[in-house]
Amino acid sequence: MRKPSSFEQIIDLFLLRTTPPDYAVDQPYYTTGNIVAAAIIRVAIIGVVAILFNSSYGSSGWWWTAVMFAMWGLGAYPAWIQYNKYYDKVEELHTGTLCGSCRHFNPTNQLCMIMDVHVTSEEPPCEGEAWEPR
Ligand code: SF4
Repeated sequence: MRKPSSFEQIIDLFLLRTTPPDYAVDQPYYTTGNIVAAAIIRVAIIGVVAILFNSSYGSSGWWWTAVMFAMWGLGAYPAWIQYNKYYDKVEELHTGTLCGSCRHFNPTNQLCMIMDVHVTSEEPPCEGEAWEPR
C-alpha cells in the first residue's frame, strides 16, 4: 500500500474523517491528541478568518453569532463526533482484548506503554507474555 506523505497525513487529521484512511491499518489513526489538535486548528482558522472579515461584517448584529456557530459546527462538533468514535473503539479494546485488561495499556492513545506500540486488534503485541492485571 502506498505510504502517504506527511502533508497528506496532516490534511487527513485536519479533516477529521469519520472513517480512517485506507493506509491506517496498523495504528489508530485518531487519538485524543490528534482530535484536540484538529479542533484547535479549525477553531483558530475560523477565528482568524472572522477577524479578517470583521471590518466588513463586524458592525452587523449577526456576525459574531455566525462565527460562534461556525466555530461549534465546523470546529468543535466534528471533533466531538470523532472523539465519540474513538472512545467507542477504546471501549471495544477494553472489553474485548487482553490488552484492554492490562495495566500497561494506555487508553488515551491506545498504546502499550512498555512495548511502545499501538494496540489495534485482539492480538497483544507482547503475545500475552507481559500482561499484568489492572
Ligand atoms: S503488556 Fe502485552 S498485554 Fe499488556 S498492553 Fe502491552 S501488549 Fe497488551
